[in-house]
Amino acid sequence: MIQDISPSRLDNSFRTQQPQPESIAMCFREGKLLAAVTDGELRFPRYHELAAHSTEPVYLFSVDDESFFLTDPAAEPEGYQYYTVRELRDQCAGKYLYAAFTAYHLHQWYADNRFCGVCRGEMQHDDRERALVCRDCGHKIYPRINPAVIVGVISKGRILLTRYRRGYAHNALVAGFTEIGETLEECAAREVMEETGLRVRNIRYYKSQPWGMAQDILTGFFCETDGSDAITMDDSELRAARWCRPDEIELQPQQHSLTNEMMRLFRDTNGHLPPEYAPVSTEIPPQKTRIYFTRHGETTMNAADHISGITDCELTENGIAQAEQLAAVCAEHREIGLIVCSPLKRARMTAEIIAEKLHIPVVTDERLREWDYGSYEDQPRGTTPDFQAAKREFGVRMKDGGESLLQLAHRVYSCIDDIRKQYAGMTVLCVCHGGVCRVAETYFRDMTTEAFSQFFMGNCELREYEV
Ligand SMILES: [Zn+2]
Repeated sequence: MIQDISPSRLDNSFRTQQPQPESIAMCFREGKLLAAVTDGELRFPRYHELAAHSTEPVYLFSVDDESFFLTDPAAEPEGYQYYTVRELRDQCAGKYLYAAFTAYHLHQWYADNRFCGVCRGEMQHDDRERALVCRDCGHKIYPRINPAVIVGVISKGRILLTRYRRGYAHNALVAGFTEIGETLEECAAREVMEETGLRVRNIRYYKSQPWGMAQDILTGFFCETDGSDAITMDDSELRAARWCRPDEIELQPQQHSLTNEMMRLFRDTNGHLPPEYAPVSTEIPPQKTRIYFTRHGETTMNAADHISGITDCELTENGIAQAEQLAAVCAEHREIGLIVCSPLKRARMTAEIIAEKLHIPVVTDERLREWDYGSYEDQPRGTTPDFQAAKREFGVRMKDGGESLLQLAHRVYSCIDDIRKQYAGMTVLCVCHGGVCRVAETYFRDMTTEAFSQFFMGNCELREYEV
């Protein structure tokens, strides 16, 4: 999404500071922003490139170590021209695009509030916080942000896609601004009803997105139809509204919007959204579910032969190479649609390498973390002779606050139960740990106590189970 500019960071905290020669100048004219675009690369003039300024510069925010100022140059420097933020959105990406949207939001607010709504006096910048204060009566106002909703409506394994009658030409979801006196969830239900005539339920929050271009904060929700899924489209707002299966979804050309991310999540999970957003009603016909299990790549603690349960550690270079190798193997099993991953770092590192190669999403599940070995954690394996014996006990908790094998089995079994239910018909890869893989094996196959304690899973070894 547009705000995902990590490792860069937009710092919006208020400061009173003067521009330096290298500071970035955000210059607007009739709603357009002065910039230069070369092969999708966005640039703004530096302060020293501007000859003179007709207004006092206003500090806006910084991105990493670059400060952005709102200013009004007497003349445009060579090589720059004015673009609408929409034009920039269609051509560019990255931190400068996000800066352009945010600067536009503030510019628009300043431009719309030159005079006091109470006494018609002139507004001026407050010197302690981002606000405008009336010179005459002291009335103070803060930047206005309009809440709006984006709604992904699901029915029978399909999602409701729309196209707006005006403005944006590509696929979208139901959307609209929140009105006075309603909650975001009520707004979501009302907008769906107004635009498509559908009644919805189980409205669940997904993510939000600051969308400076329209002066709003978008809040994304997934929900499902309540009753009929027959669409009655509002012709004045929409020119299309239809149900789409995951493979029918045509995404937006850019990766900027929350809407696009929600559509992509539905497409990439083959309609099986993560449990926290998934529809409660399961009207999709059952298909074969396949679950692969793997153990993370070699870690620093593996290499040192230390016991690593819930203790976090990094992959070694060898471990990274193992994960890359596994990613290549998984790429041949093209049907893997989703990774469910332990929250521990070594598993997440492994999962991310595979996910990047396969272009599939990663969902973290707490229940896949390794067995909590209590005070055996981070001990050298050689100096803890009773550790092997402790692992053979079913109902005894690992000493000093650890888990018993039955507790471990309880959470791993419940996780597999949920994967089977939520991702029915899909092929899922679980990236976790040796101890978890061993328990998973017993979920699918009978094992004697002896076989169980002998079970060993190599780093990035792959096991397949069909449900
Ligand atoms: Zn006033």
